[in-house]
Amino acid sequence: MGRNGRPQALVTGGAGFIGSHLCEALLDRGYAVTCLDNFQTGSFANIAHLAADPAFRLVEADITRPLPSRLRADLVFNLACAASPDQYQRDPVHTWKTNVLGAMHLLERAEAWRATVLQASTSEVYGDPDVHPQPESYWGNVNPVGPRACYDEGKRAAETLFFDTHRTRGVRIKVARIFNTYGPRMHEEDGRIISNFVTQALRGEPLTVYGDGRQTRSFCYVDDMVSALLALAGSGDGVAGPFNLGNPDEMSVIEVARRVLDETGSQAGIEFHPLPVDDPRRRRPTIDRALSVLGWRPLVGLEVGLARTVADFAARLERAAAVHAAPVVPGTPRNAAQLQPL
Ligand code: UDP
Repeated sequence: MGRNGRPQALVTGGAGFIGSHLCEALLDRGYAVTCLDNFQTGSFANIAHLAADPAFRLVEADITRPLPSRLRADLVFNLACAASPDQYQRDPVHTWKTNVLGAMHLLERAEAWRATVLQASTSEVYGDPDVHPQPESYWGNVNPVGPRACYDEGKRAAETLFFDTHRTRGVRIKVARIFNTYGPRMHEEDGRIISNFVTQALRGEPLTVYGDGRQTRSFCYVDDMVSALLALAGSGDGVAGPFNLGNPDEMSVIEVARRVLDETGSQAGIEFHPLPVDDPRRRRPTIDRALSVLGWRPLVGLEVGLARTVADFAARLERAAAVHAAPVVPGTPRNAAQLQPL
Protein backbone atom coordinates (compact mmCIF):
# COMPACT_ATOMS: atom_id res chain seq x y z
CA MET A 1 0.00 0.00 0.00
CA GLY A 2 1.44 3.38 -0.85
CA ARG A 3 0.56 6.90 -1.82
CA ASN A 4 -2.66 8.09 -0.16
CA GLY A 5 -3.51 4.56 0.95
CA ARG A 6 -3.82 3.39 -2.65
CA PRO A 7 -2.10 0.25 -3.93
CA GLN A 8 0.82 1.25 -6.13
CA ALA A 9 1.29 0.11 -9.68
CA LEU A 10 4.41 0.66 -11.78
CA VAL A 11 3.97 0.52 -15.54
CA THR A 12 7.22 0.44 -17.52
CA GLY A 13 6.56 1.58 -21.07
CA GLY A 14 3.58 3.44 -19.60
CA ALA A 15 3.75 6.24 -22.18
CA GLY A 16 3.49 3.77 -25.04
CA PHE A 17 0.44 2.54 -26.88
CA ILE A 18 -0.81 -0.29 -24.63
CA GLY A 19 0.95 1.16 -21.57
CA SER A 20 -0.94 4.45 -21.66
CA HIS A 21 -4.30 2.66 -21.87
CA LEU A 22 -3.23 0.45 -18.98
CA CYS A 23 -2.19 3.45 -16.81
CA GLU A 24 -5.63 4.95 -17.41
CA ALA A 25 -7.42 1.71 -16.46
CA LEU A 26 -5.34 1.31 -13.29
CA LEU A 27 -6.11 4.89 -12.18
CA ASP A 28 -9.83 4.15 -12.78
CA ARG A 29 -9.50 1.11 -10.53
CA GLY A 30 -8.03 3.12 -7.63
CA TYR A 31 -4.29 2.53 -8.07
CA ALA A 32 -1.60 5.13 -7.63
CA VAL A 33 0.27 4.76 -10.90
CA THR A 34 3.91 5.40 -11.69
CA CYS A 35 4.50 5.50 -15.42
CA LEU A 36 8.14 4.85 -16.31
CA ASP A 37 9.27 5.43 -19.89
CA ASN A 38 12.43 6.32 -21.81
CA PHE A 39 10.36 7.94 -24.60
CA GLN A 40 12.12 5.91 -27.30
CA THR A 41 8.74 5.10 -28.85
CA GLY A 42 6.38 6.33 -26.10
CA SER A 43 5.08 9.86 -26.16
CA PHE A 44 4.03 12.42 -23.60
CA ALA A 45 0.95 13.10 -25.71
CA ASN A 46 -0.30 9.59 -24.79
CA ILE A 47 -0.40 10.41 -21.07
CA ALA A 48 -0.85 14.20 -21.07
CA HIS A 49 -4.51 13.77 -20.04
CA LEU A 50 -3.40 11.87 -16.90
CA ALA A 51 -0.78 14.38 -15.78
CA ALA A 52 -3.14 16.43 -13.59
CA ASP A 53 -4.26 13.38 -11.58
CA PRO A 54 -2.45 13.42 -8.19
CA ALA A 55 -2.42 9.60 -8.24
CA PHE A 56 -0.34 9.63 -11.45
CA ARG A 57 3.37 10.26 -11.72
CA LEU A 58 5.84 10.07 -14.54
CA VAL A 59 9.45 8.93 -14.26
CA GLU A 60 11.75 9.21 -17.26
CA ALA A 61 14.17 6.28 -17.08
CA ASP A 62 15.53 3.39 -19.14
CA ILE A 63 15.19 -0.09 -17.66
CA THR A 64 18.47 -1.21 -19.23
CA ARG A 65 19.97 0.64 -16.25
CA PRO A 66 19.25 0.03 -12.56
CA LEU A 67 15.92 1.61 -11.63
CA PRO A 68 15.74 4.88 -9.66
CA SER A 69 16.03 3.97 -5.97
CA ARG A 70 12.96 5.97 -4.89
CA LEU A 71 10.60 3.70 -6.84
CA ARG A 72 8.20 1.34 -5.04
CA ALA A 73 5.26 -0.74 -6.17
CA ASP A 74 2.93 -3.56 -5.18
CA LEU A 75 2.19 -4.48 -8.78
CA VAL A 76 4.58 -4.08 -11.72
CA PHE A 77 3.69 -4.31 -15.41
CA ASN A 78 6.74 -4.58 -17.66
CA LEU A 79 5.65 -3.21 -21.02
CA ALA A 80 8.92 -1.45 -21.82
CA CYS A 81 10.27 -2.29 -25.27
CA ALA A 82 9.73 -1.02 -28.78
CA ALA A 83 7.33 -3.57 -30.28
CA SER A 84 7.24 -2.73 -33.97
CA PRO A 85 9.83 -4.57 -36.12
CA ASP A 86 10.82 -1.25 -37.75
CA GLN A 87 11.48 0.31 -34.36
CA TYR A 88 13.08 -2.55 -32.44
CA GLN A 89 15.51 -3.32 -35.28
CA ARG A 90 16.92 0.24 -35.28
CA ASP A 91 19.11 -0.45 -32.24
CA PRO A 92 18.98 -4.23 -31.80
CA VAL A 93 21.49 -4.35 -28.96
CA HIS A 94 19.42 -1.84 -26.98
CA THR A 95 16.30 -3.93 -27.73
CA TRP A 96 17.97 -7.05 -26.35
CA LYS A 97 19.20 -5.16 -23.28
CA THR A 98 15.72 -3.74 -22.69
CA ASN A 99 14.25 -7.23 -22.71
CA VAL A 100 16.92 -9.06 -20.75
CA LEU A 101 18.65 -6.51 -18.49
CA GLY A 102 15.31 -4.76 -18.03
CA ALA A 103 13.68 -7.99 -16.86
CA MET A 104 16.58 -8.60 -14.45
CA HIS A 105 16.34 -5.12 -12.96
CA LEU A 106 12.58 -5.36 -12.51
CA LEU A 107 12.68 -8.85 -11.01
CA GLU A 108 15.33 -7.77 -8.50
CA ARG A 109 13.21 -4.84 -7.40
CA ALA A 110 9.96 -6.83 -7.38
CA GLU A 111 11.58 -9.32 -5.02
CA ALA A 112 12.73 -6.51 -2.69
CA TRP A 113 9.25 -4.91 -2.74
CA ARG A 114 7.46 -8.31 -2.48
CA ALA A 115 5.52 -7.17 -5.52
CA THR A 116 3.76 -9.15 -8.22
CA VAL A 117 5.35 -8.57 -11.61
CA LEU A 118 3.65 -9.08 -14.96
CA GLN A 119 5.80 -9.52 -18.04
CA ALA A 120 4.55 -8.43 -21.44
CA SER A 121 5.92 -11.25 -23.53
CA THR A 122 4.86 -11.79 -27.11
CA SER A 123 3.55 -14.07 -29.81
CA GLU A 124 7.01 -13.56 -31.36
CA VAL A 125 8.31 -16.24 -28.97
CA TYR A 126 6.70 -18.67 -31.47
CA GLY A 127 8.70 -17.18 -34.36
CA ASP A 128 7.51 -18.47 -37.75
CA PRO A 129 5.35 -21.21 -36.27
CA ASP A 130 5.20 -24.82 -37.50
CA VAL A 131 2.18 -25.38 -35.27
CA HIS A 132 -1.01 -23.53 -36.08
CA PRO A 133 -2.85 -22.09 -34.19
CA GLN A 134 -0.31 -21.60 -31.43
CA PRO A 135 -0.99 -23.03 -27.95
CA GLU A 136 1.18 -22.01 -24.99
CA SER A 137 2.73 -25.49 -24.99
CA TYR A 138 4.40 -24.86 -28.39
CA TRP A 139 8.11 -24.02 -28.06
CA GLY A 140 8.38 -22.01 -31.23
CA ASN A 141 10.51 -21.70 -34.33
CA VAL A 142 12.78 -18.69 -33.96
CA ASN A 143 15.83 -17.78 -36.04
CA PRO A 144 18.37 -16.88 -33.32
CA VAL A 145 20.62 -14.88 -35.66
CA GLY A 146 18.02 -13.07 -37.82
CA PRO A 147 17.03 -9.39 -37.63
CA ARG A 148 13.99 -10.16 -35.42
CA ALA A 149 16.04 -12.13 -32.89
CA CYS A 150 16.88 -9.11 -30.70
CA TYR A 151 13.18 -8.95 -29.89
CA ASP A 152 12.14 -12.63 -30.16
CA GLU A 153 15.13 -14.08 -28.32
CA GLY A 154 15.19 -11.15 -25.90
CA LYS A 155 11.56 -11.87 -24.95
CA ARG A 156 12.28 -15.62 -24.75
CA ALA A 157 15.26 -15.00 -22.44
CA ALA A 158 13.08 -12.69 -20.34
CA GLU A 159 10.50 -15.47 -19.94
CA THR A 160 13.32 -17.76 -18.77
CA LEU A 161 14.44 -15.17 -16.22
CA PHE A 162 10.88 -14.71 -14.98
CA PHE A 163 10.24 -18.41 -14.47
CA ASP A 164 13.69 -19.08 -12.94
CA THR A 165 13.25 -16.20 -10.50
CA HIS A 166 9.78 -17.46 -9.64
CA ARG A 167 11.05 -21.00 -9.02
CA THR A 168 14.24 -20.10 -7.15
CA ARG A 169 13.24 -16.90 -5.29
CA GLY A 170 9.48 -17.26 -4.96
CA VAL A 171 8.75 -13.98 -6.76
CA ARG A 172 5.11 -13.78 -7.90
CA ILE A 173 5.13 -13.52 -11.68
CA LYS A 174 2.56 -13.40 -14.48
CA VAL A 175 3.61 -13.89 -18.10
CA ALA A 176 1.37 -12.64 -20.91
CA ARG A 177 2.14 -13.49 -24.54
CA ILE A 178 0.59 -10.55 -26.33
CA PHE A 179 -0.55 -11.07 -29.93
CA ASN A 180 -0.96 -8.21 -32.45
CA THR A 181 -2.86 -5.40 -30.77
CA TYR A 182 -4.20 -2.21 -32.33
CA GLY A 183 -6.29 0.80 -31.46
CA PRO A 184 -6.26 4.52 -30.69
CA ARG A 185 -2.85 6.06 -29.81
CA MET A 186 -0.75 3.77 -31.96
CA HIS A 187 1.97 5.96 -33.35
CA GLU A 188 1.25 6.99 -36.97
CA GLU A 189 4.87 6.33 -37.97
CA ASP A 190 5.38 3.19 -35.93
CA GLY A 191 5.59 0.96 -38.98
CA ARG A 192 3.05 -1.70 -38.06
CA ILE A 193 0.33 -2.87 -40.35
CA ILE A 194 -2.74 -1.19 -38.86
CA SER A 195 -1.03 2.13 -38.16
CA ASN A 196 0.63 2.15 -41.60
CA PHE A 197 -2.54 1.21 -43.51
CA VAL A 198 -4.83 3.63 -41.63
CA THR A 199 -2.38 6.53 -41.99
CA GLN A 200 -1.79 5.76 -45.68
CA ALA A 201 -5.53 5.44 -46.43
CA LEU A 202 -6.34 8.72 -44.67
CA ARG A 203 -3.57 10.50 -46.58
CA GLY A 204 -4.75 9.01 -49.88
CA GLU A 205 -1.51 7.06 -50.33
CA PRO A 206 -1.47 3.43 -51.57
CA LEU A 207 -1.37 0.83 -48.81
CA THR A 208 2.04 -0.88 -48.61
CA VAL A 209 1.43 -4.64 -48.64
CA TYR A 210 4.59 -6.63 -47.91
CA GLY A 211 5.14 -9.85 -49.86
CA ASP A 212 2.06 -11.28 -51.54
CA GLY A 213 -0.12 -10.28 -48.58
CA ARG A 214 -1.20 -13.86 -47.89
CA GLN A 215 0.58 -13.99 -44.52
CA THR A 216 -1.86 -13.83 -41.62
CA ARG A 217 -2.18 -12.18 -38.23
CA SER A 218 -4.96 -12.03 -35.61
CA PHE A 219 -5.79 -8.58 -34.28
CA CYS A 220 -6.88 -7.69 -30.76
CA TYR A 221 -8.44 -4.34 -29.86
CA VAL A 222 -6.51 -2.48 -27.15
CA ASP A 223 -9.40 -2.34 -24.62
CA ASP A 224 -9.64 -6.12 -24.75
CA MET A 225 -5.90 -6.41 -24.21
CA VAL A 226 -6.02 -4.10 -21.18
CA SER A 227 -8.84 -6.12 -19.63
CA ALA A 228 -6.81 -9.29 -20.23
CA LEU A 229 -3.74 -7.81 -18.54
CA LEU A 230 -5.83 -6.71 -15.55
CA ALA A 231 -7.48 -10.15 -15.30
CA LEU A 232 -4.07 -11.80 -15.34
CA ALA A 233 -2.64 -9.36 -12.78
CA GLY A 234 -5.59 -10.10 -10.50
CA SER A 235 -5.32 -13.90 -10.80
CA GLY A 236 -4.36 -16.06 -7.82
CA ASP A 237 -0.75 -16.23 -6.54
CA GLY A 238 -0.23 -19.68 -8.04
CA VAL A 239 -1.14 -18.50 -11.55
CA ALA A 240 2.00 -17.59 -13.51
CA GLY A 241 1.19 -18.55 -17.09
CA PRO A 242 2.34 -18.13 -19.75
CA PHE A 243 -0.99 -16.99 -21.23
CA ASN A 244 -1.68 -16.23 -24.87
CA LEU A 245 -3.63 -12.97 -24.96
CA GLY A 246 -5.09 -11.99 -28.28
CA ASN A 247 -8.04 -12.24 -30.59
CA PRO A 248 -8.14 -15.51 -32.59
CA ASP A 249 -9.92 -13.82 -35.53
CA GLU A 250 -7.20 -14.54 -38.12
CA MET A 251 -6.95 -12.77 -41.47
CA SER A 252 -4.51 -12.15 -44.28
CA VAL A 253 -2.67 -8.88 -44.78
CA ILE A 254 -4.57 -8.34 -48.05
CA GLU A 255 -7.84 -8.73 -46.15
CA VAL A 256 -6.71 -6.13 -43.61
CA ALA A 257 -5.92 -3.75 -46.49
CA ARG A 258 -9.39 -4.29 -47.94
CA ARG A 259 -11.04 -3.64 -44.57
CA VAL A 260 -9.05 -0.42 -44.04
CA LEU A 261 -9.91 0.85 -47.53
CA ASP A 262 -13.60 0.09 -46.84
CA GLU A 263 -13.60 1.75 -43.42
CA THR A 264 -11.88 4.92 -44.63
CA GLY A 265 -13.65 5.06 -47.99
CA SER A 266 -10.21 5.55 -49.54
CA GLN A 267 -9.63 4.92 -53.27
CA ALA A 268 -5.86 4.81 -52.77
CA GLY A 269 -5.45 1.10 -53.61
CA ILE A 270 -2.47 -1.01 -52.65
CA GLU A 271 1.12 -1.48 -53.78
CA PHE A 272 3.38 -4.47 -53.14
CA HIS A 273 6.74 -4.27 -51.36
CA PRO A 274 9.30 -6.96 -50.47
CA LEU A 275 8.50 -9.20 -47.52
CA PRO A 276 10.71 -8.42 -44.49
CA VAL A 277 13.24 -11.13 -43.52
CA ASP A 278 11.81 -13.83 -41.20
CA ASP A 279 8.30 -12.36 -41.37
CA PRO A 280 6.07 -15.08 -39.80
CA ARG A 281 3.72 -16.64 -42.38
CA ARG A 282 0.79 -17.06 -40.04
CA ARG A 283 -0.20 -16.34 -36.48
CA ARG A 284 -3.24 -17.07 -34.42
CA PRO A 285 -3.50 -17.66 -30.69
CA THR A 286 -5.20 -20.50 -28.92
CA ILE A 287 -6.83 -18.69 -26.00
CA ASP A 288 -8.46 -21.61 -24.15
CA ARG A 289 -6.17 -21.13 -21.16
CA ALA A 290 -7.06 -17.44 -20.75
CA LEU A 291 -10.73 -18.30 -21.09
CA SER A 292 -10.73 -21.14 -18.57
CA VAL A 293 -8.31 -19.70 -15.95
CA LEU A 294 -8.94 -15.95 -16.25
CA GLY A 295 -12.49 -16.00 -17.59
CA TRP A 296 -11.30 -13.60 -20.31
CA ARG A 297 -12.18 -13.44 -23.98
CA PRO A 298 -11.95 -10.55 -26.46
CA LEU A 299 -15.23 -8.68 -27.05
CA VAL A 300 -14.42 -6.10 -29.73
CA GLY A 301 -14.38 -7.28 -33.34
CA LEU A 302 -12.27 -5.74 -36.09
CA GLU A 303 -15.17 -3.80 -37.57
CA VAL A 304 -15.86 -1.84 -34.39
CA GLY A 305 -12.20 -1.63 -33.36
CA LEU A 306 -11.10 -0.38 -36.76
CA ALA A 307 -13.82 2.29 -36.83
CA ARG A 308 -12.61 3.63 -33.45
CA THR A 309 -8.99 3.48 -34.60
CA VAL A 310 -9.68 5.31 -37.85
CA ALA A 311 -11.60 8.02 -35.95
CA ASP A 312 -8.65 8.52 -33.58
CA PHE A 313 -6.07 8.65 -36.41
CA ALA A 314 -8.23 11.04 -38.43
CA ALA A 315 -8.56 13.40 -35.43
CA ARG A 316 -4.82 13.30 -34.76
CA LEU A 317 -3.86 13.89 -38.39
CA GLU A 318 -6.29 16.81 -38.52
CA ARG A 319 -4.83 18.31 -35.33
CA ALA A 320 -1.30 17.90 -36.66
CA ALA A 321 -2.30 19.64 -39.91
CA ALA A 322 -3.89 22.52 -37.96
CA VAL A 323 -0.79 22.93 -35.76
CA HIS A 324 1.44 23.07 -38.83
CA ALA A 325 -0.83 25.64 -40.45
CA ALA A 326 -0.81 27.89 -37.34
CA PRO A 327 1.88 30.58 -36.90
CA VAL A 328 4.55 29.59 -34.35
CA VAL A 329 4.75 31.79 -31.25
CA PRO A 330 8.30 31.51 -29.88
CA GLY A 331 8.41 29.50 -26.64
CA THR A 332 4.98 27.92 -27.20
CA PRO A 333 4.99 24.13 -27.37
CA ARG A 334 3.59 22.90 -30.69
CA ASN A 335 1.94 19.97 -29.02
CA ALA A 336 1.74 18.12 -25.74
CA ALA A 337 4.75 15.96 -26.62
CA GLN A 338 6.97 19.01 -26.25
CA LEU A 339 5.80 19.83 -22.76
CA GLN A 340 8.18 18.89 -19.97
CA PRO A 341 7.52 15.66 -18.12
CA LEU A 342 6.32 16.08 -14.52
N1 UDP B 1 2.85 -5.44 -43.10
C1 UDP B 1 2.50 -5.00 -44.38
N2 UDP B 1 2.57 -3.67 -44.63
C2 UDP B 1 2.94 -2.75 -43.71
C3 UDP B 1 3.28 -3.20 -42.40
C4 UDP B 1 3.23 -4.55 -42.15
O1 UDP B 1 2.15 -5.80 -45.26
O2 UDP B 1 2.96 -1.55 -44.05
C5 UDP B 1 2.77 -6.88 -42.81
C6 UDP B 1 4.05 -7.49 -42.23
O3 UDP B 1 4.92 -7.94 -43.27
C7 UDP B 1 3.48 -8.64 -41.41
C8 UDP B 1 2.12 -8.13 -40.95
O4 UDP B 1 1.79 -7.06 -41.81
O5 UDP B 1 3.30 -9.77 -42.21
C9 UDP B 1 2.13 -7.62 -39.51
O6 UDP B 1 3.21 -6.74 -39.38
P1 UDP B 1 3.42 -5.85 -38.08
O7 UDP B 1 4.72 -5.11 -38.27
O8 UDP B 1 2.21 -5.06 -37.80
O9 UDP B 1 3.56 -6.89 -36.89
P2 UDP B 1 4.35 -8.27 -36.69
O10 UDP B 1 5.09 -8.63 -37.96
O11 UDP B 1 5.27 -8.00 -35.57
O12 UDP B 1 3.28 -9.23 -36.40
